[in-house]
Amino acid sequence: MANHTFEPLEERTFQYQNSLPPLPVPNLEESLSKYCDAVKPFLSQEEFENTCKIVKRFENGIGKELHQKLIERARVRKNWLEEWWLNAAYLDVRMPSQLNVNFGGPASYLEHYWPSKNGVTMDLVLNVADYYVFTPYVYPASWSEDNSFRQLFSLFLVTNIGALAIYFLFGGLSYYFVFDHSLMKHPQFLENQVRREIKFSMQSMPWISIPTVALFFAEVRGYSRLYDNIDSSPYGWFGVILSMISFLFFTDMAIYWIHRFLHHKLFYKRFHKPHHLWKVTTPFASHAFHPIDGFMQSLPYHIYPFIFPLHKITYLGLYIFVNIWTVSIHDGDYRVPTFLKQIINGSAHHTDHHLYFDFNYGQYFTLWDKIGGSYKNPSSFEGNGPHDHCKKLKEDGESSRNGNANYQKFTENGKNK
Ligand SMILES: [Zn+2]
Ligand SMILES: [Zn+2]
Repeated sequence: MANHTFEPLEERTFQYQNSLPPLPVPNLEESLSKYCDAVKPFLSQEEFENTCKIVKRFENGIGKELHQKLIERARVRKNWLEEWWLNAAYLDVRMPSQLNVNFGGPASYLEHYWPSKNGVTMDLVLNVADYYVFTPYVYPASWSEDNSFRQLFSLFLVTNIGALAIYFLFGGLSYYFVFDHSLMKHPQFLENQVRREIKFSMQSMPWISIPTVALFFAEVRGYSRLYDNIDSSPYGWFGVILSMISFLFFTDMAIYWIHRFLHHKLFYKRFHKPHHLWKVTTPFASHAFHPIDGFMQSLPYHIYPFIFPLHKITYLGLYIFVNIWTVSIHDGDYRVPTFLKQIINGSAHHTDHHLYFDFNYGQYFTLWDKIGGSYKNPSSFEGNGPHDHCKKLKEDGESSRNGNANYQKFTENGKNK
């Protein structure tokens, strides 16, 4: 105890909650006899005898009925007392809690009883979902919030709903406000492509979410190095900024190699080709991957917080950011500030990856393509991109009459793997 006052504990609050047996209901006589013993020192002999009579009446009368209700309540709850304790004994009580409830009083050691131990993150999202939706409306009261199956199931729902929301929100915004719809006249734009991209994404997402949820579950159970308190950051705020930069560089490097590996002839056809079905992409192609491909390329994001310390909120922010980025490199908007053209792997670079396959595998930066010898200056920067092609077709007025000839001329540049 003395040590705990000054040293943080290794354990997290409620860490062992699942292994505890349900709170038993003591039998009625036992409770009443304890009650009598407890009031005895405060009463005169006469008062005590009177109290005992009332207690006896209670035991033989309504007490039985109430006790039965208690047993019924305990059948469907792991802890039949918790809610009453919180509300009746703690929150509703209008007397000073320091004197009457928190006997320990305020002291620094309180923090150590609830140590902000590293390792819980999806719990942020899960707690909000539990509090506002799952606990009041979805799950039966008998399913406690820290039940593993309940957590897995909740994570599955939250991950899928979140992924769909991000996909349609950012994909939709980008499609309507950024994506140049004239690209749909490009000869390599497929029939019903948008619908096919969306359908493919929606079919893959639930499968991708299964291994993803397993990793989120490991985070919720405290196996990652995520922390929620800035005090736990190795270098304070500077550490948080450092981790954002290292997250981007680490995932950029890992995705580059995973992506290159997916282009190996052993894997390409089976797993990665579906994403290359789209040659001139729309923002909705951003998540249209074979499930194995999609999961493999998202793996670096999940691995990072198991290797390096990372702030929870930063992680959530980065996770949303990478999703937006993925949408943006498929949006066909090639504009980049000139000084970043050589550094940032943007939509122009990724478009050439879809068209010419063996170049520009990167995600955010051109760094690894330059190191790995796969960098190609985007064709659109050289006046030869899909936009230029569509413009030429329009100018020539040949799009309907000589479409095929143009298509052939075009594919001489772009291989059709
Ligand atoms: Zn590829
Ligand atoms: Zn792509």
